[in-house]
Amino acid sequence: MLQTRAGKRTAEAALKVAVDMEREGLIDKKIAITRVEPEALNQLLHPTLDPDAPREQIAIGLGASPGAATGEVAFTAEEAEKLAADHRDVILVRTETSPEDIHGMHAARGILTARGGMTSHAAVVARGMGRPCVSGAGMLKIDAVRGEMVAGNVTINRGDIITIDGAAGLVFKGKVGLRQPEMTGDFGTLMGWADEVRTLKVRTNADTPGDAATARKFGAEGIGLCRTEHMFFEADRIIAVRQMILADAEDQRRAALAKLLPMQRSDFEAIFKEMAGLPVTIRLLDPPLHEFLPHKEEEFEDVAAAAGTNARKLRARAIALHESNPMLGHRGCRLGITYPEIYEMQARAILEAALTVEEQGGAPVQLEIMIPLVAFKSELEILAARIAGVAAAISRERGKVPDYLIGTMIELPRAALKAGEIAQVAQFFSFGTNDLTQTTLGISRDDAGMFLNDYLAKGVIARDPFVSLDTDGVGELISIAAERGRKTRAKLKLGICGEHGGDPDSIRFCHDSGLDYVSCSPFRVPIARLAAAQAALQKSRSDV
Ligand code: PEP
Ligand code: MG
Repeated sequence: MLQTRAGKRTAEAALKVAVDMEREGLIDKKIAITRVEPEALNQLLHPTLDPDAPREQIAIGLGASPGAATGEVAFTAEEAEKLAADHRDVILVRTETSPEDIHGMHAARGILTARGGMTSHAAVVARGMGRPCVSGAGMLKIDAVRGEMVAGNVTINRGDIITIDGAAGLVFKGKVGLRQPEMTGDFGTLMGWADEVRTLKVRTNADTPGDAATARKFGAEGIGLCRTEHMFFEADRIIAVRQMILADAEDQRRAALAKLLPMQRSDFEAIFKEMAGLPVTIRLLDPPLHEFLPHKEEEFEDVAAAAGTNARKLRARAIALHESNPMLGHRGCRLGITYPEIYEMQARAILEAALTVEEQGGAPVQLEIMIPLVAFKSELEILAARIAGVAAAISRERGKVPDYLIGTMIELPRAALKAGEIAQVAQFFSFGTNDLTQTTLGISRDDAGMFLNDYLAKGVIARDPFVSLDTDGVGELISIAAERGRKTRAKLKLGICGEHGGDPDSIRFCHDSGLDYVSCSPFRVPIARLAAAQAALQKSRSDV
């Protein structure tokens, strides 16, 4: 034999070859598991470009959420929604997205942004929804008011057709033929084998019952991150949220929060029912409050009227809340320290919902209440005591209260270093590696797209650290936190809920570091299951 080469094959073919060879006794299940690239499963879960279809590429960005999509360009969430209501396929094109665009993102087949990295709003939300997304296509000049975008010498107008490939990060003029995914029985067979050997659990990041259902279909064993703020942007809630932000005093704030309580409670009930007794980690409010206020001048009048105030007051509040560096500002548990009544409302909604589901005969929820962006043990102590106070009140009112664990995200280097102390209060840690990467490297997750491609091209780094964990740096902090945390509390539950929880190389690191679970967006759950199995096999081989 002079030379051998691995045969190139599609994901579908790789699966079939692996499963058939095991059935024919040529390889065993463990070898079969290693024969399929976890990332290749994307081809089975999302539409892809037909490799033979002609195409004219006009821009390149980051492959932020896999899958290919074709549609008419819409430059605002409202346009996207209108076109989708007419059963037209839409690609939502924005400079960057914000939580207010969520309805347009839902309506669109795909999302394209000129700015933003792999953990920008567009990227994270699109992956959660399973929508193709290209982010950070910096060469695009988007003028939403004129309804046009310019890519080099090509101008695309509102309503023109484009195609995006969210795996490769490419944008094409016009329609490019797509291939629809096909899930065969071999997929389920290989997944079953993977589940037999993996030791890492796989949870999902899900904020809605729909996402939770999708993730369970793909085999998720719990929710590792429910971002509660996403529930605040629906049309019926945002008014009460804005009233809460605009309140001058605590009693006014509590009155606005009282309006939100039943809505949050019913959201949680629906999620708990969907998860049917599996663990659910709910994170209390995290983003800075200004994200909930309008950003465009023309919106101030309408928003002020809806919130029962005037535009002048609203504008003044927006100015007061402005921060130069909001990601390092008044967010996460810092909001809970300033306005404990927000976290109290959320804790009440969570505990009452769990109690109701249980009383209605549902499986008891394995509840984990998670406090974000903790740096000091004292932050967690103060907030855990507030939550315990709410639990005691519910117990008095209803005769009982569900069990819950209290834990924290590890998103700041200080938290990782002081994990031994923090674990005196926290019953679990979830590594928020989006923020931990941002705060360890000092690279803004929202702006990284502007220069990371240069870093990759010039060999400064081998991979985008927001995609694949910087195991040398951020990874060392995770190892330190895991070791120090477990020294204090041997049974400390450890998981990861940053976007790295769905990346095969990062999953291998999590396995080797002794984490209990990874949590990733619903469509990455099968990828994580396979990657976790491969990590277990690799570890067992290297231990021999
Ligand atoms: C994180 O920081 O890794 C995380 C999961 O939280 P978010 O992305 O919502 O900041
Ligand atoms: Mg975070």
